[in-house]
Amino acid sequence: GSLPGLVALLALLLLRSWQSRLRHSGVTLGLALVLLVLPFALQAAGLGVISVAPALFGLAQVGLGDVIGTMLAALRESRLTDPQTGLANARALRESMAIDQQGHVVVMRLANYADIVNVLGRAHAGLVVQRTAQRLSALTACPVHHVEPNALGWIDPCTDHETQAEQVEAGVALFNQAVDVDGRPVRVVPAFGVASIDGSGARTLDRALMAADQAQTKGARWDWYHATADVESDWRLSLAAEVEAAMASGAIHPVYQPQYDLRARDINGAEALVRWNHPERGPINPESLIALVEEHGLIAPLTLHVLRTALNDQRRWTQAGVAIHVAVNVSAMLPADSAFIAAVEALLAQYPGAAEQLTLEITESTPMIHTAAVIAALERLQALGITISIDDYGTGQSTLSYLRNLPAREIKIDKSFVIGMAASRSDQLMVASTIALAHALEYRVVAEGVETAAILDMLAEAGCDFVQGWHIGRPMSAADLQALALHSQRAAA
Ligand code: C2E
Ligand code: MG
Ligand code: MG
Repeated sequence: GSLPGLVALLALLLLRSWQSRLRHSGVTLGLALVLLVLPFALQAAGLGVISVAPALFGLAQVGLGDVIGTMLAALRESRLTDPQTGLANARALRESMAIDQQGHVVVMRLANYADIVNVLGRAHAGLVVQRTAQRLSALTACPVHHVEPNALGWIDPCTDHETQAEQVEAGVALFNQAVDVDGRPVRVVPAFGVASIDGSGARTLDRALMAADQAQTKGARWDWYHATADVESDWRLSLAAEVEAAMASGAIHPVYQPQYDLRARDINGAEALVRWNHPERGPINPESLIALVEEHGLIAPLTLHVLRTALNDQRRWTQAGVAIHVAVNVSAMLPADSAFIAAVEALLAQYPGAAEQLTLEITESTPMIHTAAVIAALERLQALGITISIDDYGTGQSTLSYLRNLPAREIKIDKSFVIGMAASRSDQLMVASTIALAHALEYRVVAEGVETAAILDMLAEAGCDFVQGWHIGRPMSAADLQALALHSQRAAA
């Protein structure tokens, strides 16, 4: 398999020498795509019928990982753009907020947006938003983001209250005159909201939007975000106080999403996903629950609660004659906590043989997982027989070759790429080449977010090991999972 490898290697070296001069990410992406398809295309043309794996392995050493990284960067960029207006989106704003921690987030709602849509139609309303953004750029050197259909937002590095207030007044004045849309004057009624970035992190954008709504209800043109209006903070506080009792009563518990083994052709694994159906507030979003629990220092008890429940359920499945491997999510901050690792070891001592049937998923999207303490902790867990899996692969900054520092045996390709395979050729290619490279590096690969049979087929074609998603099954109770796995394992036998 050296011919495709050699050609690809040559192309890679060329790409590397050009890369520094290439500014346009589209060109880089194009080259990366060509490079990735090349070995497969040559093989298809009969020029290299032999497995491409050894060539891929060689490439992995010299930096195919970097090329995939470049592709990922381009894909990530497209996820940061609003397709309607081409402006950067809310996600982009939240990400830059994590970098510049100073100043205010300012948003402007087009208070009469509904009328604009009614009169001009949706396509032209998009144009109105674009013109509004252009006008706002007179106010700020920072890029204006399209954060909601009827709202624009940006970061203002100004930290002084007075100056900030003057800026927003100036913003209001900008809309005394109609904006021009294809020669037609359109009146835009602004409602501004301002929130300080200090200490509120990614929630600042929501707070600024809340302030704009507040302004609108009061009939004002703008308002500050007021902590008193933050019903959300009281809400979160009282919720956090209930977490421990809810764990004890079992109100907080895992459900299980089946994983289908493409080689064995049966369901022999599941991911535990936490759920809390609150008696008054209804189902609490798992990601908000995790964020809340992390903020209140309860993430270790919650993770141990989910782990203990999963091990108990797994013991019951085993007693019923169904072998099911179970995966539990672990927040990236936890492995550095030696008390947590010791608690996991103590817990596993009560479940003989369970470690080999257990996976711990660590998300890749935090840089924290590369610190020496975390690597050492993961090695300790792996030595017990636990499989370490890299969750949400593709959303963070690491390339596969970089991840090799970690004692992980599995990667889970993030659902955004898998769902994207339905419509995007570059997502298909990204997933297929990631699978090939991961195999060359001896990882097993799980694809999550498999929603259709068509995507399942593509993944099977690409040699994926396990799939998880609505097409296989939604997250379900331990008893339902047991019945489903039993049925599937009997059918396969
Ligand atoms: P994750 O670990 O990446 O879990 C996969 C998420 O994708 C789950 O959302 C699952 O319900 C959803 N999903 C599964 N199949 C499909 C599909 O076909 N299409 C789509 N669109 N989505 C699908 P869920 O349960 O809301 O969990 C969200 C995240 O919350 C998880 O992402 C994980 O990061 C976190 N999480 C959940 N349970 C726990 C836990 O016990 N501990 C920790 N630390 N985090 C948890
Ligand atoms: Mg997970
Ligand atoms: Mg995931």
